[in-house]
Amino acid sequence: MVHLLLVEDEVELALPLKLALAREGHGVDLAQDGEEALARLTEQNYDLLILDWMLPGVSGLEVCQRLRKDHRLLPILILTARDGVDDRVQGLDAGADDYLVKPFELKELLARVRALARRSQEAPTQERLTYNDLTLDLTGKLAFRRGVPIELSAKEFQLLTYFLQHQGRVMSHEEIYQYLWQGETAPNSNVVAAQVKLLRRKVDRDFESPLIHTVYGLGYRFGA
Ligand code: CA
Repeated sequence: MVHLLLVEDEVELALPLKLALAREGHGVDLAQDGEEALARLTEQNYDLLILDWMLPGVSGLEVCQRLRKDHRLLPILILTARDGVDDRVQGLDAGADDYLVKPFELKELLARVRALARRSQEAPTQERLTYNDLTLDLTGKLAFRRGVPIELSAKEFQLLTYFLQHQGRVMSHEEIYQYLWQGETAPNSNVVAAQVKLLRRKVDRDFESPLIHTVYGLGYRFGA
């Protein structure tokens, strides 16, 4: 049983699918376009994503690419009427784990969902980073300090992961910038400082022992 997001714009397909998945015991949320899907995915942690390729506005493929770019690891099953080999390759290249061609048998979809759910649940604690009282669950994209969950944006999570992986060493603005915005145009020149400030507010503000330190003129250092 998993908590999944179904993204499908055709209501006459979406509703019966939702019902069938719910009957299997899954918790199912429905989004009807790519924008809505991305919004829900930033608000909640889903175990699995069923994603229609052809959506109004942001396509399913684009949703998939964006999630992978943000290092979101949840399993993704793409639904599509496109059954060419190139289409399959394109879907898998975008980061999908599985690919189902419409029209499909309901029982096949349910079987694929079971397989993906199993895979995602087999490795729940495998990717875990800890430092003192801070824990990052890289699979679930969750951060905890003293066992209390910290709500982080995708970029904040990425930055905190980077900090933990390089604890004790000074990281320059430039290095962090390259890591977080490689190939993208950053919104402004103070973007790293702004991002660190946001992260610090969430990770350090309520604790007497700060983990993120400014090293004047050089950058930042993570550690007690
Ligand atoms: Ca569609």
